[in-house]
Amino acid sequence: MTPVTGVQVVWFKRDLRTCDHAPLSDAAAAGPVLPLYVAEPEYWRLPDVSTRHWIVQRAALEEVSQRLAALGAPLIVRVGRVVDVLEKIHAAVGIARLLAHEETGNLWTFRRDIAVRAFCRRHAIPFQEFSQTGVIRGAGARDRWAAHFGRFASAAVATEPARLVAVSAAKVVALPTADMLGLQDDGCIAPQLGTRQAALDLLDTFLEGRGANYRRGMSSPLSGATSCSRLSVSLATGAVSVREVLQRLYAARRSLVDTPPEFRAVPVTALDSLIARLHWRGHFIQKLESEPNLEVRAFHPVHQAARTATAPDDPALVAWAWGRTGVPFIDACMRSLIATGWLNFRMRAMVQAFASYQLGLDWRASGEHLARLFSDYEPGIHWPQVQMQSGQTGINTPRMYNPVKQGLDQDPDGVFTRAWVPELEPVPLAILQTPWLATGGDLPSYPAPIVEPVAAARRAKERLTALRRAAGYRDASLAVFQKHGSRKRRLDDDHPRGKRTPPKPQRSASVQLTLQFDD
Ligand SMILES: Cc1cc2nc3c(=O)[nH]c(=O)nc-3n(C[C@H](O)[C@H](O)[C@H](O)COP(=O)(O)OP(=O)(O)OC[C@H]3O[C@@H](n4cnc5c(N)ncnc54)[C@H](O)[C@@H]3O)c2cc1C
Repeated sequence: MTPVTGVQVVWFKRDLRTCDHAPLSDAAAAGPVLPLYVAEPEYWRLPDVSTRHWIVQRAALEEVSQRLAALGAPLIVRVGRVVDVLEKIHAAVGIARLLAHEETGNLWTFRRDIAVRAFCRRHAIPFQEFSQTGVIRGAGARDRWAAHFGRFASAAVATEPARLVAVSAAKVVALPTADMLGLQDDGCIAPQLGTRQAALDLLDTFLEGRGANYRRGMSSPLSGATSCSRLSVSLATGAVSVREVLQRLYAARRSLVDTPPEFRAVPVTALDSLIARLHWRGHFIQKLESEPNLEVRAFHPVHQAARTATAPDDPALVAWAWGRTGVPFIDACMRSLIATGWLNFRMRAMVQAFASYQLGLDWRASGEHLARLFSDYEPGIHWPQVQMQSGQTGINTPRMYNPVKQGLDQDPDGVFTRAWVPELEPVPLAILQTPWLATGGDLPSYPAPIVEPVAAARRAKERLTALRRAAGYRDASLAVFQKHGSRKRRLDDDHPRGKRTPPKPQRSASVQLTLQFDD
């Protein structure tokens, strides 16, 4: 490594770790390092960002900051616009090199990164970015993507630098509080923290036995809370890298295969499922990477043209957002999410699909609300999933969920529903998911349903079918498939027995005419 004279700034964003941190290792090998984190007030005021995100981010920042200090170069925290902060540092000490991980974030961070690149060009500062998600920067099509991701996942993990040489001129200041960023309490009682230690512990317990029930337990919000890996928050803060997790799972799988089945703490299939999901993570983030405006534009032009905005005070949106729709299982899921910041995949899909199909709300409005509520908000997974669960892609079989059936299947004893909707306490189990059938909607403090779920789904199907008959719909679907479709298998199903029909481009259009409704 050629030594660098001058200050190398390593810009930390959502990569709050010191292991498998290529920018840090690269800089450490070349000379003095200034590890920088900028808390950007403008970012923290965005409509898809929330207090719980900051609580999660701050805990991971505290952890990485301690680690960096132990290695010799404390984290330098500043509040402001990144370009302004970099201008000041450059004026004070002269930046020789800027290093960071590529970020596939929301539209705001996409534009912010363009401004940072322009700053570097203006001052002739080399800006080196490293991949941490396995996506192909700006890729326009999907051919050979899986092979690329496979190479990324098995490449060597960057080792933590043995020591860092600090830049003495940099003043260390404390991390801002939520208050200082203008953030208010958002009702999350105790968000799961996305620290490195939390991720390593979760991985250990998963492999030691917690993952034994992974495939069966993941569909219910009750068992999902313990059966799922729960790695999403630490992956979102970047306290642990997806490559580190995958390599740990690959190694665990190898030793599991050599262990007699009766001595295995978790079945091989559980590891395979988790590994597959971590691949999906990359697959989904690639969609936003290839089309950065997916948070504001539908994948499919026909759906984009048909969109109608939902006002923030729309009564159906407000009822859905705060768990007051009168449909017990939807309300239980939303209230649980507000309080905990987490929900399992199936229930995320159900609440999003219910908002878009049965309530006919704009996916942008419901998607923003969910983004704020998920403490693991990852724009590259979130926006493509929001669109997929709202039937906006044209390349996935639209799936409508019947919340009554989901409640009966996933919460047969009503434990989850009663815990989050205590007003239903006097309602017998037999009608817990359909209290309106017996009471005529006449419960003291619980609303009558704002829609009848099955009839509303039928109307949504009719609307969708009419759209799909529009001239040019199929051709546009093929174009979406070329750019975003998996060449490997269907990715719209979290179910272990999900079909594995590889969607050939020619077939994908006809697949569109199928609709699924779980009544
Ligand atoms: C509308 C909607 C929005 C979502 N928004 C987010 C989000 O903002 N952040 C987020 O991390 N996940 C999101 N997901 C995907 C998924 O629900 C969560 O990753 C998962 O519930 C997190 O819990 P876990 O870590 O225990 O996941 P596990 O089921 O144990 O999966 C392990 C990891 O695989 C990845 N993963 C799992 N399922 C998917 C999937 N369907 N697509 C892509 N990657 C997946 C995640 O990184 C996850 O942490 C969303 C799903 C839907 C339907």
